[in-house]
Amino acid sequence: MTSTPLPTTDELRARARTSLRNIGVDVPEGDALHARTPLTGEHLFGLRAATGADTEEAIATTRTAFLIWRTTPAPCRGELVRRLGELLRVHKGDLADLVTIEAGKIRSEALGEIQEMIDICDFAVGLSRQLYGRTIASERPGHRLAETWHPLGVVGVISAFNFPAAVWSWNTAVALVCGDTVVWKPSEFTPLISLACDHLLARAAEDVGAPRDVHRLLLGDRAVGGQLVDDPRVALVSATGSTRMGREVGPRVAARFGRSLLELGGNNAAIVAPSADLDLAVPAIVFAAAGTAGQRCTTLRRLIVHRDIADPLIERLTGAYTKLPIGNPFDDTTLVGPLISTTALDAMHHALTRVQAQGGKILAGGNRRLAEAAPAAAYTEPVLVRVAEQTDVVREETFAPILYVLTYDTLDEAIALHNDVPQGLSSSIFTRDQQEAEIFLSAAGSDCGIANVNIGTSGAEIGGAFGGEKDTGGGRESGSDAWKSYMRSATNTVNYSSELSLAQGVSFL
Ligand code: NAD
Repeated sequence: MTSTPLPTTDELRARARTSLRNIGVDVPEGDALHARTPLTGEHLFGLRAATGADTEEAIATTRTAFLIWRTTPAPCRGELVRRLGELLRVHKGDLADLVTIEAGKIRSEALGEIQEMIDICDFAVGLSRQLYGRTIASERPGHRLAETWHPLGVVGVISAFNFPAAVWSWNTAVALVCGDTVVWKPSEFTPLISLACDHLLARAAEDVGAPRDVHRLLLGDRAVGGQLVDDPRVALVSATGSTRMGREVGPRVAARFGRSLLELGGNNAAIVAPSADLDLAVPAIVFAAAGTAGQRCTTLRRLIVHRDIADPLIERLTGAYTKLPIGNPFDDTTLVGPLISTTALDAMHHALTRVQAQGGKILAGGNRRLAEAAPAAAYTEPVLVRVAEQTDVVREETFAPILYVLTYDTLDEAIALHNDVPQGLSSSIFTRDQQEAEIFLSAAGSDCGIANVNIGTSGAEIGGAFGGEKDTGGGRESGSDAWKSYMRSATNTVNYSSELSLAQGVSFL
């Protein structure tokens, strides 16, 4: 199914300009960077990009602001984030428009992305009164042993195109209440939503009297990110993107003994056991695999199905795949918008060619859509591919809506297949057998940072820590105690007795 006609590039340009104007942003004209839209694949605005000198200045000013911000009481820092959350609520519709125009998300997912930003602001405001350290039992009489959490410094946030605003907010809301300042280098694909977020934070800072330079935005390509990576004044580099990017960034930050928080690619799988409730599993699988046009880090890419239920499940999935409405993401009936670029579509086709050469069979989908209406855009049917084994192409992340279907006979075999990929982000099992569910969640089960039961791999809530193992980079951000990545701890021993007693019973003098 194809939804209503696509908007023209002129209409999208006007809509973006209106949203930006409602938020209060003047588009900074230039020719170094191109704002474009995947809805038509065409150019919207020419923008100025940050120079090396701009980056240097942003790091220096956020470092100076840090010296003030770190001693501002944490609940007062929370006021800034509270105000940001209010402004996000006011401008939710305009921000979601920009996410759709630049990242191609369907309307409900774009609104969901902004809701996630509001949620993390609420979370961070609460956190601003809960940056707890522990008091620890001392082995010495008249001594108090405690841990204190202190702000870390400037946080460099490098973000990907597919969550162009939410990932920034996960990092920034938490970093700000922790007393850090932030320099943000967003994806080259999403400068407009970045300008909007930066502007709202600047307004929030002005409203609550916080220093303007607690946050700076740098639009540009990976060279700008590279400058943040290599600068010793950037205490933490929080980088979200491909595993390729993480392999470049991680060692460079480590070489200067900086901290990095890496949120990289996933190759997420779900096991469907014989007892699974297929009425629940089918929509969960289709949302996880085809939602966001397969462009979430948590997108379901591998389905490991028990042999006894493979045929009925595949039949139902094939039926659902052939009915997916694809096209204009502003149309409320559309479920699958465009891929970010024709390069992403080429990568999808390349993976499909390879997997077919390795014996894979396409069960549904895979055709390009709207090529005549929008030749520079990349609309495609999500595709379901049956594979006999987990070949090299199945073990890679192709950032497109391809779902590989494998079969298994025993749970041990399913878990082994599940874990036999380099990435370790998100996972799930569909089962009504409690023993199977518990085994999947146990130390001998899924090796991922996220493991779910009877729900898909994508669509995490902000309350939990988010991140994955192995090639996904090992980072944790957002909820739970991920805030500890944005602070440094100090262990304090206070002797309030009149005796000097040494630890471990050592005597000296
Ligand atoms: P990408 O790696 O191409 O780019 C991500 C960001 O890194 C961009 O801002 C880019 O300019 C920057 N960058 C790239 N190379 C760099 C370098 N050498 N030094 C400094 N900065 C550099 O990723 P993308 O195509 O924008 O996003 C898709 C990828 O991101 C997928 O692999 C997806 O799984 C991953 N992702 C992961 C998470 C997560 O939380 N684990 C979330 C979203 C996206």
